[in-house]
Parts: sequence; structure tokens; C-alpha cells
Amino acid sequence: MIIVMEPAADEEQIQKVAQKLKSHNFKIVFNRGEVMTVLAAIGDKRLVDPASLASMEGVREVKLIQEPFKLSGRESKADDTVIDLGNGVLIGGKNPSVVMAGPCSVERDIEGLLKVAYTAKDAGAQVLRGGAFKPRTSPYDFQGMEEEGLKYLAEARKQTGLLIATEIMDTPEIDLVASYADILQVGARNMQNYKLLKALGRTNKPVILKRGPAASIREFLLAAEYVIYAGNPNVILCERGVKGFDSHYTRNILDIASIPVIKKYSHLPVIVDPSHATGRRYLIEPMSKSALAAGADGLMIEVHHDPENASSDGAQSLTTDQFKSLMFKLNKLGKLLNDLSESDVEAVPG
Ligand code: PEP
Ligand code: MN
Repeated sequence: MIIVMEPAADEEQIQKVAQKLKSHNFKIVFNRGEVMTVLAAIGDKRLVDPASLASMEGVREVKLIQEPFKLSGRESKADDTVIDLGNGVLIGGKNPSVVMAGPCSVERDIEGLLKVAYTAKDAGAQVLRGGAFKPRTSPYDFQGMEEEGLKYLAEARKQTGLLIATEIMDTPEIDLVASYADILQVGARNMQNYKLLKALGRTNKPVILKRGPAASIREFLLAAEYVIYAGNPNVILCERGVKGFDSHYTRNILDIASIPVIKKYSHLPVIVDPSHATGRRYLIEPMSKSALAAGADGLMIEVHHDPENASSDGAQSLTTDQFKSLMFKLNKLGKLLNDLSESDVEAVPG
């Protein structure tokens, strides 16, 4: 249920409404906008009569939430969620796109990682992303350096000032990974690991939630719902492609349309990972451009100092030079898109 308060409603009136709902075991999430406060109340709606709530002092309107994703949906929060990732980097809303770049896996070569980190920083990326715990399809493939890898990432952050994002594969690792990382990533294979999602909801770090390889948009938003419902509103959705029938030319199918769809139904920031979506280096640039043009709030791109010898995902990793050139172009594109969104109201003929 959504309770929209009058702009003039005072705190006492807001709390009275909240108390009434809480007494029926509703969970309340307050969205305090510039003009008015909106309460999203999750619970058994048979226990409270919407008409009695609507007649309370300070209440403007009571609405029932139609979509199953109650907290991640726009029905409960009309304004875009803006997340502070740290270092003053904001993602979502009208903020410039955030770029997260780095090798697929952190490898036993800290010089290589530092080269990528310095390149990313100089080119304008805000986040260094690299996996220390790797979810690999085969148990015989490189599984990641675990805590040692987290230490390398921490060193790169110390030297470059970049924020660190890394994957968390299992609930018992949360404290360890969170003690090193600024942003926690849930991989595509874990999108429906509900215990992990609930546990991440009890942390206070931003969570990047990747879309499952065969997840519908609705399932994706419901997975985000788990994290928010458990207490952490800072979820960044990551579109990374879904499984298709033709893996000969692309690893997955990048669902570009999911960006405006998610933006329509959800207030959460959305980023795109063109690397896992395509699996091919030459496709990173066109897909990055498409993602920004479709409204993505950021990109996650694999970059390696020596892709041919990477321990994982070399074929889709950009070289440091390719990344620099890509960032130069994306910067220009970002300005064009910004001009377009600022002027499109006046530019419409008639
Ligand atoms: C990754 O981001 O390193 C990864 C394994 O991607 P995904 O979970 O999207 O497959
Ligand atoms: Mn990878």
C-alpha cells in the first residue's frame, strides 16, 4: 500500500499513520521527497482498511501497489534512486554515467592490476572492478585468489583512489569481502540465491545485482526486492545479457530494451556489462554506446593489461589502449546525450 501524505503534513501525522500500520505488522519504508512524504507499507492489506487510512489527518491519498515488486518499483517511489558509492561518486538520476572497469579476475600479478587501475583512473573511470572469488562454469578453471586478491584490490584503491567493486559468491564471505570492497557484486548465477540476497540486505554497502542468464525482468526486479526488503535500498541493477539460441557470434543476447523498461517500472539505477553480454572485444564499443543511448546509468567493462594471457575472459577484455580510446568516445557521447536530454523539450517540432 502507498500512503501519499499532504505536502503540509507534519511529522506527528506521518508517525501516526506509520504506527497504525505497524500495529498490524506492516513494514514501512519512508520516501521523503522534497515536496511530500510517501510511505510504502508492506503487509497483509486485509488487516487495514484503506478508507480509514485515507481519512487520517495529513493523508492525501492511499493507493494499492499493483506490481509484485513493491519497493523496487516506481509505484512506491517515483523519483530515481541516487546511490552514493563513496568518494562523492553518485550513480542514478541525472548523474553522469559511472564506469566500472578492471580485469575479470584479480591475478597473481599486482603490477598488471595496477596498470589497469591507473589506466582506468586516468581515462575517467570511477570504480575498479575485479573478481577475487570467481564463479566459473568449470571447477577446473581458475577460481580466483580469494582474500589475497582482495588485498591486491585494496592496494590498487590505496594507490589510485578508485572505489573497489568485487563479487561475493556466498553468505559466509560477506564480512570478509565487505571489509575490503566499497561495492558488492552479486553475479548472474547467484541472482536467485535468496539467502545471499537477504544477507546483503542486512549490509550497508551498495550492491550490484546482475541479471540472471535466464531471468525475466520481473524476476530481476523481484531479486532486487529481496535486498531492499531486508533493509538495504542501495541496489544497482546490471544488465549483462540473457541466454539466447545463437552463441556462435555473441556469448549472450544483450537486452538493451530492458534498460528503458526497468527505468519505467523501477527507480533503481541500471548499468550495463557489455563484456559478459557479448564475449567479444570488438562488440564492447558499440554495445557501450547503445547502453548509454538507451539510458543506462553506467557501464561495467572488462579490461586487462595482457588479454591474451588472462586467466579468465581474455577474449572479451579490452586492452588498456582500447579502453582509453573507448572512454574518449564515451565522454563525447555522454555530452551529446546530455545536450539532447536538456534540449529535447524545446526541440520537438510543433
Ligand atoms: C563477472 O562479472 O565477473 C561475471 C562472472 O559475470 P556474470 O555473473 O554476469 O556472468
Ligand atoms: Mn568475466
